[in-house]
Amino acid sequence: MSEWRNWSGSVAAQPTSMERPRTTDELAAIVIGASKVRVVGAGHSFMPLCETTGALISLSAYEGQVEIAEDRKTVWAPAGWGLDRLTAALWAQGLSLINQGDINPQSLAGATATGTHGTGAELGSLSTQTCGFRLMLADGQVVECGPDLRPELYQAQRLSLGLLGVAVAIRIHVLPAYYLEERIQQLPLDEVAERLDELSAATRHMEFFVFPYSDKVIFKTLQPAAPDGDFKPGNDIDETPFRLACEIGALAKPLIPTLQRLMMRASAGASRRVGPAYQIFPSDRTIRFEEMEYELPRANGMATLKAAIAHIRKRRMPIAFPFEFRLTAGDDLWMSPFNNGPGASISFHQYAKMPWRGEFAEIEKVFQAGDGRPHWAKRHSLTPADVHRLYPKTGDFLKVRASVDPDRKFANAHLTQLFGLPDAART
Ligand SMILES: Cc1cc2nc3c(=O)[nH]c(=O)nc-3n(C[C@H](O)[C@H](O)[C@H](O)COP(=O)(O)OP(=O)(O)OC[C@H]3O[C@@H](n4cnc5c(N)ncnc54)[C@H](O)[C@@H]3O)c2cc1C
Repeated sequence: MSEWRNWSGSVAAQPTSMERPRTTDELAAIVIGASKVRVVGAGHSFMPLCETTGALISLSAYEGQVEIAEDRKTVWAPAGWGLDRLTAALWAQGLSLINQGDINPQSLAGATATGTHGTGAELGSLSTQTCGFRLMLADGQVVECGPDLRPELYQAQRLSLGLLGVAVAIRIHVLPAYYLEERIQQLPLDEVAERLDELSAATRHMEFFVFPYSDKVIFKTLQPAAPDGDFKPGNDIDETPFRLACEIGALAKPLIPTLQRLMMRASAGASRRVGPAYQIFPSDRTIRFEEMEYELPRANGMATLKAAIAHIRKRRMPIAFPFEFRLTAGDDLWMSPFNNGPGASISFHQYAKMPWRGEFAEIEKVFQAGDGRPHWAKRHSLTPADVHRLYPKTGDFLKVRASVDPDRKFANAHLTQLFGLPDAART
């Protein structure tokens, strides 16, 4: 038995084996031979999605390469590749992803299985960028699906939490390679709230970070641009003073509000740089944290953020990390939290060395009061009844799941509970 932990350290598992197959035959032998299977990408999910009591499979060494379509609008990519490896390979071929999130170690399969997204009022999550899958099912056979080929399986697989099988290759939409201009400045929260529509319409990507005890936000935009000057890949924001503030705050919680205001004052300058999109999008997040994120109807986003901040201040809650506020386009994926229209995403983080469970439970109620739906990979407490109420297509999703994996080989304890699947231990 081996020990596995996720990125934040909050999820542990004892799989019977950890596997790194290199070929389809090796992968099929593992899938057929094990009674329980989960696949892990980079292990960046905060929920116990990769936890298993069976075989835990990584596709990091699995065969495959990028195959570019003739019209250069889509590519097939190895599902287990990290987004870092994939985006560098695409750049070398003159291509870029349509959008990316904050970091890039996630695997393509892990990011698309969970609805991982960046920011952009008109841009959907990475799951919406998929247009085909090669999937190994529970019997070891690889099947392909797409909009016109096994369309039900395709619909379910576009955001599947890994419940249907092992994705070995994923087809995604791409764009000709582009550069981005990044601008970072501080703005008053009230001003951003008032001008949100205008600010978001002005650039392709807009987001901001706000500490709960500061009235100013760190406002960041990305806009396609011509190459301009030398570019050195590196972080959008210097994490050094922040790391120190987290350490001090964890030891002396009453100091947190003052530390946050000091940090904002010390970093008041604006910055600008231009670089290749695949290097501008991601940052290194080196300070470990725990995270909950809710996706709200766009119209409720700002009021809900303000309600969460007010709640934290009223209760004097010791929260060391800033909120992150982003925009995502609506979509039509069965299990996507963005399938009820354009979304505003609010991420609520806590320093990993500080308590978070009670704090997350309180703020989750604020997010739910704003009609929010959680990011599947981040902390939440949904019950099967919640899932069915929030996602009218849950029944269709579970029907496809049952048709391809009747023995629930790809389920684990968390997903069994979340979807109210029959529990093997009790059946
Ligand atoms: C520092 C940090 C920053 C983050 N930034 C963002 C962000 O900007 N935007 C955002 O939306 N999210 C963000 N996340 C969340 C993250 O994108 C998701 O948790 C994502 O799933 C992580 O990818 P992974 O490869 O680590 O997946 P894992 O956590 O390893 O797996 C996620 C799910 O995918 C399944 N899976 C993995 N590979 C396969 C496969 N080949 N076949 C079938 N199923 C598979 C797993 O079984 C599991 O259910 C962040 C997380 C961290 C820790």
